[in-house]
Amino acid sequence: MFQGESIEVLPLQDGLVELRFDRRGEAINKLDARTVDEFRQATERIAASPEVRGVLVTSAKDVFIVGADITEFGATFQQEEAQIARGVRASNELFNAFEDLKVPSVVAINGFALGGGLELAMLAPLRVMADTAQVGVPEVKLGLFPGFGGTVRLSRLTGLATAIDWVASGKPAKAPAALAAGVVDEVTSADALRERALALLQRAVRGEVDWQAAQQRKRAPVALSAQEAGALVETARTQVAARSGRHQPAAVIALEMMAEAAGRDRAGALDLESAAFGRVAKTQAAASLVQAFLNDQALKKLYKRHAREGRPVKQAAVLGAGIMGGGIAYTSALRGTPVRMKDIAQPQLDLGIAEAGKQLAKQVKNGRLAQAKADAIQASIVPQLDETGFDAVDCVVEAVVENLEVKRKVLAALEHSVKPGTVIASNTSSLRIDDIAQPLARPQDFVGMHFFNPVPVMQLVEVIQGTKTSDAAVSTAVGYAVAMGKTPIVVKDCPGFLVNRILTPYINAFVQLVADGADFEAVDRAMEAFGWPMGPAYLQDVVGMDVGSHVGDVIAAGYPQRMPAIERNAVKAMVAAQRYGQKNGAGFYRYENDPTGRPRKTAAPEAHALVATLQPQGKRDFADAEIVERMMLPMIVEAAHALEEGVVATPAELDMALLLGVGFPAYAGGALKYADWLGLDRVVALCDKHAALGAPYAPTARMREMAAQKLRYYP
Ligand code: NAD
Repeated sequence: MFQGESIEVLPLQDGLVELRFDRRGEAINKLDARTVDEFRQATERIAASPEVRGVLVTSAKDVFIVGADITEFGATFQQEEAQIARGVRASNELFNAFEDLKVPSVVAINGFALGGGLELAMLAPLRVMADTAQVGVPEVKLGLFPGFGGTVRLSRLTGLATAIDWVASGKPAKAPAALAAGVVDEVTSADALRERALALLQRAVRGEVDWQAAQQRKRAPVALSAQEAGALVETARTQVAARSGRHQPAAVIALEMMAEAAGRDRAGALDLESAAFGRVAKTQAAASLVQAFLNDQALKKLYKRHAREGRPVKQAAVLGAGIMGGGIAYTSALRGTPVRMKDIAQPQLDLGIAEAGKQLAKQVKNGRLAQAKADAIQASIVPQLDETGFDAVDCVVEAVVENLEVKRKVLAALEHSVKPGTVIASNTSSLRIDDIAQPLARPQDFVGMHFFNPVPVMQLVEVIQGTKTSDAAVSTAVGYAVAMGKTPIVVKDCPGFLVNRILTPYINAFVQLVADGADFEAVDRAMEAFGWPMGPAYLQDVVGMDVGSHVGDVIAAGYPQRMPAIERNAVKAMVAAQRYGQKNGAGFYRYENDPTGRPRKTAAPEAHALVATLQPQGKRDFADAEIVERMMLPMIVEAAHALEEGVVATPAELDMALLLGVGFPAYAGGALKYADWLGLDRVVALCDKHAALGAPYAPTARMREMAAQKLRYYP
């Protein structure tokens, strides 16, 4: 009856037809523009055929429909708000045409029906769901909300309160929750799904199920008074605003719109939804979160290439059972790669093993791991004082002390214990890979693998390619990091690699601001309001003032022109006063452990007194906007340098590293996405405004060129 690239309509018995989603040549179904257009055509054919008495909607894939095609968002979202709104409103009419068919339909939800997938499923009067499937509207994670009538139909199927909860949280629901919410009518085993859905359709055709009433309910206002809706929104608003923060307005915009739309009929409600969607599509959060999603997809594609070119790591080893080595060994074992853990000190090995045991016990207690599995994981970490068995490992990660001579000696010895081709990775945080590699006989097998602390939590791993590192060694390290559940980014060897290099000018900007009279608490407040999880002073306290200062010095020495020493340096003053931060209870702030053992931050008058000695001109008030400019511009400039030097291959990798490595505010998407949002012309103009602050604020020639030509880092 209809045959497209993504949809076909096939006749069944007794005037029933099956509308089947089966995207040609792919493993999943998604709602791209072509599929939506095919859906329109299929609906028209069904509507025009007097023989059709009912429609069964199915999927031929493991999923039902995973959602819209996010790669299409970029171009759409560049339109004006009103144009976007008109576009989605027009698509809504195609969806309405299916909802308004004169015959009943039943959707068989066999797997994920997310976003546009659930919106489409809600067009039918009836839904049967496999007990293994999940439904939901995760758009809020992209800074959006459903725009194909999802907020409207969900409110009418499940009530306003639950609909707001689903839309604002973006969490998918399993079958029992979906049934309880009234979003589906029946739940069954995956095997029986088709049969049950067909039986329900036949009952509807025979008039034993009042499917017209179900459709009518979706066209009418929600059964709720304006007052009730208002009260509901008031309670929800506080929760939702607290959860998503002021930089991610999608959930709050959605719930206000949904409350108003509840009182309207379908057409009126869809008008409101489309208009609000246009608004939310133009927010910075939507632009950044959609880009971050695409960046993530691009990385996954890269990983597939590395997986082909690298050597699978079946057995690993770690040198050093300290904070980092212990964390790496635990994470490796947890994710299924057995690991030998060597240290020169038995107590360190004991500590490392005990720490892994503690983490595993926590997982068991939380119900995430069975005891037997935890025991097996623990047993797959082999503590040892020598290098027995190293000739059978595919990758060794070195995490001994940060000292060039020690690392060189340890690694040169290690080369004799492993076979050629075994990848040796150093977890150095500040030494150059080429420097460490100097005495090695097989530098082609040597690579950097820079994990972040705490390893089990932090997502990013910088994989550093030295001058002599082979591509195969890089691919092996990438593959191992992926196997550990991490997001590896390949970077070239340079001082600070990528993330710490870009962070250094940001911290320097903070030190300069304070030297110029800024109150460090005011700087923290401004940067936290901008969206950073912690301000720069607090960050130094958490990292440890001595460590931060040392690493900063090492990196700055690599870029003397852009990162010269700063006079009246508050971080160095803190170190000199032995105020190391959280680790000894005193830094820019004071810390005391609360009853649960977590450090609680309070103001430290003595830290303010110390900083005052560095401010001969006294204190000066800086507006938040000026603080943000002075902090963020050097970061953008350094990111541009790193990209132009080829330290990373793409803006996507650079921004991803900042999001995952240093907690760059997600709504701003990373330094380069943020530059795009501001516009390169604006960035350059702001840099010029702050030119007196010197080299960190000098845009690159390429940035000026991009500004002049109105170019962007992302398409
Ligand atoms: P740590 O002091 O906690 O652990 C170092 C361990 O190495 C100790 O257990 C020590 O006994 C052991 N060791 C020393 N010489 C050894 C040898 N010859 N063979 C085997 N083991 C030996 O240090 P850490 O914080 O885990 O740092 C380790 C490495 O990771 C350093 O290069 C550091 O710069 C880097 N790093 C640290 C962090 C962090 O935040 N701590 C973050 C990223 C990278």
